[in-house]
Amino acid sequence: MSHRPTVPPTHVVIFGRPGSGKSTLAERLGAEHGYVLFRTGELLRAAVRRDDFLGQRVEVHLASGNLVPDQLIFELMEQSLKAPATGKLLFDGFPRTMGQVPLLADFERRLGFAIGCYLDVAVTPGEAIARMTGRRVCPTCGATYHIVGKPPKVAETCDLDGSHLVNRTDDKPEVVALRQQIFDEYATPILDHYRRGAPETFRTVDGEQPFEAVYADACRALGLEAPAS
Ligand code: AMP
Repeated sequence: MSHRPTVPPTHVVIFGRPGSGKSTLAERLGAEHGYVLFRTGELLRAAVRRDDFLGQRVEVHLASGNLVPDQLIFELMEQSLKAPATGKLLFDGFPRTMGQVPLLADFERRLGFAIGCYLDVAVTPGEAIARMTGRRVCPTCGATYHIVGKPPKVAETCDLDGSHLVNRTDDKPEVVALRQQIFDEYATPILDHYRRGAPETFRTVDGEQPFEAVYADACRALGLEAPAS
C-alpha cells in the first residue's frame, strides 16, 4: 500500500457500506490505539432510547432505514462534539451525505483538528447483506453482537445486562436492501470527493478478508503497529 503515514493520524474517518464490518474495526482501533469513537448511528440510537427532543424527531428515519436529514445531524454534532473530547477521534458514520462534508470541515476549523486519514472498508453489496442478517443489538444498553463474528456468551442474551437481544429495526430484510442503495447513492460521491481531493490521506482496505487480516491492513494503512499474524 502506498503513501503510508509515518506518524499515525489523530483524526480518522472510516467508511464502509452497512455490513462491511467497519464498526467492529472502529471498535478495535479505539480499544487498541486509543481513538475515541464518534458514531452518529450510535448517538442517534441513544437519543431515541432517551426519547429526548432529537430522538423523537430521528426515530422515524432510523426505523425506515433512510438517512436522518442533515439539519438534525448538525444538531447532533453541535450537542455531541465538544472541544475537550477531540484529542484522538475516529468518525464512524459521518459524513454520510455531500451536505455533511462541509459540516465536517467546519468542525475541523472550529475545534482545531484535521482529518489525517479517510479509510474505506471495501465490501461487495452481496457479502454485506449476508452479514447484516446476523447482527443483534441489546435494546437496553445498545451493545452490538453478530451471531457469527461476535457472538454473545449466551445465545441471544446481552453479556453486559442479560437483556434478550433483538434485530436492529433497520436490519429487517426489507430495510437492508434499501440501506445498501442509500450507501451507493450517497457514499459514492463522498468517497470520490476525498479520493480525488485528498489522495494522500485516502486509503482502502479489502473488507472481505477474515477480520484479523482486515484489522492488520487497517493498522498498516494508518501507520499503526499491526498485530503479528
Ligand atoms: P449506522 O449505525 O451508522 O449504520 O447508522 C444507522 C442509521 O442512523 C442510518 O441508517 C441512518 O438512518 C442514521 N444515520 C447515522 N449516521 C448518519 C448521518 N451521518 N447522516 C444521516 N443519517 C445517519
